[in-house]
Amino acid sequence: MKLTLTLTVEYNPDGTKAEELKALLDQLVQEAVNNGRLTGETPATVESYHHDITCESLLTREQLKDHQHGPTDGSWWEHDAQGIALCRVCDECRDAKLSRYRPEILTGYSQRDVDEPIEPE
Ligand SMILES: [Zn+2]
Repeated sequence: MKLTLTLTVEYNPDGTKAEELKALLDQLVQEAVNNGRLTGETPATVESYHHDITCESLLTREQLKDHQHGPTDGSWWEHDAQGIALCRVCDECRDAKLSRYRPEILTGYSQRDVDEPIEPE
């Protein structure tokens, strides 16, 4: 038998990092598991369990691409593979902002990639 518990929390982070809130939810699950709260007084036993905590923004993708940051709001600079600063991001807007860059900008490229001839049409 497999049961799934879904808990969705809408936070107003008020400057709290997503990582910190995720850690709290993670702790909640760990405590319940470690204290036998999944089975209580029943003879049931837990064979395995899996939990996953995801962060989903309430802002649209367009709003996230324009997400403004200051130096003290828990955001950080993303750099390309050459160490050049691209944009300031947080957990919420990172994916949206980095999606505008070509993957090789982020993961690195060699001079050979740059010199690669363009395929004729
Ligand atoms: Zn952001």
